[in-house]
Amino acid sequence: MVNFHFLDNASTTKLAPEVIDTLLKYSSEIYANPSSIHKMGVSSSKAISLSRRLISGYIGANEEQIVFTSGATESNNLIIHSALSSQNNGIFLTSEIEHPSILETIKNKTFGNYRLLKTDKNGVVIFSDEDISVIIRSPFISIIHTNNELGTIQNIIDIKKMLDRHGFKGIFHVDATQSLGKLMINVNELGVDALSASAHKFHGPKGTGFLYVKDPSILKTLNFGGNQERGYRSGTENLAGICTMAKALSISIDNLEKNYVKVKAKKDRIIDYVEKKNPFIKLTISKETSQSPYILSLCYFSLPSEVLLHMYEERGIILSSGSACSSNKNKISHVLKAIGMENEENKSVLRISFSGMTTDEDITAFLDATDFIINNIR
Ligand code: PMP
Repeated sequence: MVNFHFLDNASTTKLAPEVIDTLLKYSSEIYANPSSIHKMGVSSSKAISLSRRLISGYIGANEEQIVFTSGATESNNLIIHSALSSQNNGIFLTSEIEHPSILETIKNKTFGNYRLLKTDKNGVVIFSDEDISVIIRSPFISIIHTNNELGTIQNIIDIKKMLDRHGFKGIFHVDATQSLGKLMINVNELGVDALSASAHKFHGPKGTGFLYVKDPSILKTLNFGGNQERGYRSGTENLAGICTMAKALSISIDNLEKNYVKVKAKKDRIIDYVEKKNPFIKLTISKETSQSPYILSLCYFSLPSEVLLHMYEERGIILSSGSACSSNKNKISHVLKAIGMENEENKSVLRISFSGMTTDEDITAFLDATDFIINNIR
């Protein structure tokens, strides 16, 4: 592929050029097993400690509250497994618009002891009176911070206050995979007990991430073995991945505000075009909804997203229909269904997602391609 415009950053991002040296250094220069007691092993172990210190510092946590994992899927599985192991028959609560790594894990492991919170038509989670009545007996509540298909941001601080008012005693977990490195995330301000993240969403490498846990003693391991990660997650540490993730996060945090403004201007440019110039496309969620500037969901009325995707790709524009995180591409989106989009509409949605690397040329190319496609398909 020579000339392309990558607007699928919610599914993954390009490795930041500034982190390539770190990736190489901890793969080919300092590559010893961090558990080895020789000098190079000690250097590897120190590099992991430093990364842990950096990452915990960025989110307002302590070092011992971070467990490195292979990414948010594993982090989500680990916290659900831990909550299940210590629960006494309470009802797990989560929303209908969670990532499958939360929804499927809860569905498969709680033997029906769960409730799904509904959302409004913009993807804002709603606690019904009945939901509220089970809070006091619930061992675990998980809410996605930025939704990966819609971009809707939940007000975690308000949810936490509401949970406290209703006597919640369990684990409050937040999936911040689409937020970290893009929005300011501080675990104390949010008031969460656990939080998941993946490095490849903020220009780090794939296959590495972490789980923050306020009280690590609640963790029950999924992986027994060599006692790495203080026994919470055995297996030789992904040295290069962890160090590169720390570096990528530090670059993202340094550029957080600058990128936010830049990316928002790009999203606004497309919103403006949709509202003023293109009656054949509509915004999936209202402009007024609290949302991430990094994700834009558009509905092309009854045009099938599969066809649209190919037409965009022929013009060098790389996008996603709904979410790219499911391997079953023909499945209708559970998130779009949750916000009330019926079957036909559900299959006519494209997700345009940005990063700090997105350029004005990418947006111009997208808008030109949209004009071309709409004029030729109608
Ligand atoms: N949660 C959310 C909100 C996500 O967007 C993703 C990735 N699309 C995940 C969890 C899982 O991340 P990973 O595939 O890196 O394990």
